[in-house]
Amino acid sequence: ALTRPTTLFEEPIIICFPDGRLRLINAYVLILAQSHLLSLVYQVEQNRRQLAESLERIGRELSSSLSLKKVTKRILKELFKVVTYERGLVMLQQDNYLHVLAKRGFPAGFTREDLSIPIRPTEDDIFNRIVARNEPIRIGDVLTYTSWSQLDRLPLNHSWLGVPLVLRERVIGMISLTRAEQNAFNEDDETLVLAFASQAAVALENARLYDEITQFNEHLETMVQQRTVELNQTNALLARLDKTKSDFINVSAHELRTPITVISGYAQMLKGLQPIQENDTAVSIVSGIMSGIERLHNIVNSMLDIAKIDNNTLHLHREAVDLTEQLNTICLNLEADAQARQIELDCSQLPPLPAVTADPDLLGKLFRGIIINGLKYTPDGGRVEISGRALMDTTPNYVEIAIRDTGIGIAAENLELIFEKFFQTGELLVHSSGQTKFKGGGPGLGLAIAKGIVQAHNGKIWAASAGYDEERLPGSTFFVRLPI
Ligand code: ADP
Repeated sequence: ALTRPTTLFEEPIIICFPDGRLRLINAYVLILAQSHLLSLVYQVEQNRRQLAESLERIGRELSSSLSLKKVTKRILKELFKVVTYERGLVMLQQDNYLHVLAKRGFPAGFTREDLSIPIRPTEDDIFNRIVARNEPIRIGDVLTYTSWSQLDRLPLNHSWLGVPLVLRERVIGMISLTRAEQNAFNEDDETLVLAFASQAAVALENARLYDEITQFNEHLETMVQQRTVELNQTNALLARLDKTKSDFINVSAHELRTPITVISGYAQMLKGLQPIQENDTAVSIVSGIMSGIERLHNIVNSMLDIAKIDNNTLHLHREAVDLTEQLNTICLNLEADAQARQIELDCSQLPPLPAVTADPDLLGKLFRGIIINGLKYTPDGGRVEISGRALMDTTPNYVEIAIRDTGIGIAAENLELIFEKFFQTGELLVHSSGQTKFKGGGPGLGLAIAKGIVQAHNGKIWAASAGYDEERLPGSTFFVRLPI
């Protein structure tokens, strides 16, 4: 009508009404009617936009909560803002059961368990039909639905709307809404609940996963607690065993000292006897006995040192110690042993160092032990080098000594373990006479004592090596840091 030529604009128009009747209508009336129609369309569009916004808001609110209980309750609460209903349920399928996660509008005395229902293995089971169609189902009056099962105690609501909860194309449950009067739900309600249900399904899944993680965390927590108790018990047991071991070392070292002193005294007497001195074989036998006793003596002393370190009874007699001088003396004393194995023992790199306030005897034992180890684990023809430096920009200031060898090296996993008492790597030659013999056996106490001595001086000791390799000989470096 609006596109009619202006000359015909005033003419009435024949209109066919929806009921089939024909009428004459003035063009102005038609224009008016059309503009009313447009405003209606605008109103519908407006409503749709508001609805989309509120659905989006609801979706956001739903996914902001992660507890399964809260989310399901909220679904029904938010749904009520969009669609009018009297009683509502959120149900999830678990095997042959529809479990109620949340309910709203039910009379007091109905638990979620009361409202959960079995899924019957028939086609007309209402949930099975929803699953099969993957679409909402609306029933105007449940009394007309033959396989409807109604809880006796529950007042009858005639209208029912069931909407599938779909996750990754699978129906995982449904939202069930009822109203007392017949035919209460319309197509719009169906569309709305469906839009809502897709948001709800995602929120439910998130919450379910979150619940699973929370439960798993709680389970882990209890496991950790149990393990901690077990570990504490084991630790206590180990501490008791370690104490027993320390006590044993202490007692046996003390007990061994007396007979060693006696044997040592008799050996001295033997050595002085005329007939022995006149017989070369007898002289070498006696000196063999004496060097054996000396070794035994050293071992017993190491055992006593360890016992003192373990019992925290290592007393320091502190005085100013010039480490450069002390290390040079040790090198000089070990020079013959090094030469016997063509090992170059080099102390010449040592600069003058500030004095440290320390126990000179214990430091002597510490460095001697590490240098002897350097000789012991370096094959003939190698090199052991001692260097040092003062660290004056740290608090406190330190002197750091490094003992570097060109020996068999230490595997990374043993770099810390070697400082444990009785720890030895590889197979050592158990019967060795010389203290600096290549890979000669020892009681495995040297580095444990070294660590005890360094710690008693508030210092630090550690080893570095590119690994253990008897052919490539990567060497090892032992560092000792002592506060000045
Ligand atoms: P011991 O020498 O009596 O066995 P230590 O406590 O002195 O005991 O040393 C423990 C272990 O550390 C040794 O058995 C050896 O395996 C390793 N070790 C110590 N020093 C070195 C070194 N310089 N090079 C290679 N391995 C070493």
